[in-house]
Amino acid sequence: MEYQVLLYYKYTPIEDPTLFKEEHMALCEEIGLKGRILVANEGINGTVSGTVAQTEAYMAALKSDARFADMIFKIEKSDEHAFKKMKIKVKREIVNLSLEDDVNPNELTGNHLPPEEFYKAMQEDDVIIIDARNTYEYDLGHFKNAIRPDVETFRDLPDWIRDNLSDQKDKKVLTYCTGGIRCEKFSGFLLKEGFQDVSQLEGGIITYGYDENVQGRLWDGKCYVFDERISVPVNRTEESTVVGKCYYCGNPEERYVKCGNPDCNKHLLLCEDCEHEHIRSCSQECKDHPHNRYVKEHSEQVHS
Ligand SMILES: [Zn+2]
Ligand SMILES: [Zn+2]
Repeated sequence: MEYQVLLYYKYTPIEDPTLFKEEHMALCEEIGLKGRILVANEGINGTVSGTVAQTEAYMAALKSDARFADMIFKIEKSDEHAFKKMKIKVKREIVNLSLEDDVNPNELTGNHLPPEEFYKAMQEDDVIIIDARNTYEYDLGHFKNAIRPDVETFRDLPDWIRDNLSDQKDKKVLTYCTGGIRCEKFSGFLLKEGFQDVSQLEGGIITYGYDENVQGRLWDGKCYVFDERISVPVNRTEESTVVGKCYYCGNPEERYVKCGNPDCNKHLLLCEDCEHEHIRSCSQECKDHPHNRYVKEHSEQVHS
């Protein structure tokens, strides 16, 4: 059976997110989709998977709602579901940037550059390319020469920018993220901060990877995704490379695991040898944690 994974978002007012969630859950369950959807007063952000027929039915249902009539779906082929369950959550924001002075992307956002224009712009002199994602996403793959903000969550990005790039406001800025949603607000934030010329990759890295003309050029490594697949390819030319490195030994590695300490959960690129040697933990403290998952899993194996 052929499956599809849909990635989509829309900033549009949703008056009663709780009611919307209930109705939307009923729709998704009736269709038989799996995935994760966030709903807020400001809009919707989702990734769902299902058979081709199921995902087509879902897109048709959403497009019949005037609020989502022009929604753009990023569609990826898959051999199976990318999620185990269907979850919908009501949130304050559909991506958590937690700005004191929030940005409405319908009023303020950077220029949208389609893949080919973004590809050209990246090669201009005097541009800076800012990766709007987190370090563990960057470390698995990113655009050549992109700046790696040292942040583990999106809401830490504004402070990092203020501390590190405040002297670059006259430069042409390009931003990108997985599917485009984070850049909608982030580029608006940059404009508000006084950056003069801000553009964002329309449709994000996923769209860029599927573009027939650019074919993912200038992308190194893979793209981290927030579902069971963990990562997807981007650069479809011969020049594709591995940039991920094992946290301990430094060998090329694209395999992510979560730190064995359930209170830490840090994303670690870890080769199998180092996973066993360091019991899938990022530090001594995490190795010694009484609920270390690696220890638990391996002791269960011994007893079974
Ligand atoms: Zn290693
Ligand atoms: Zn840890």
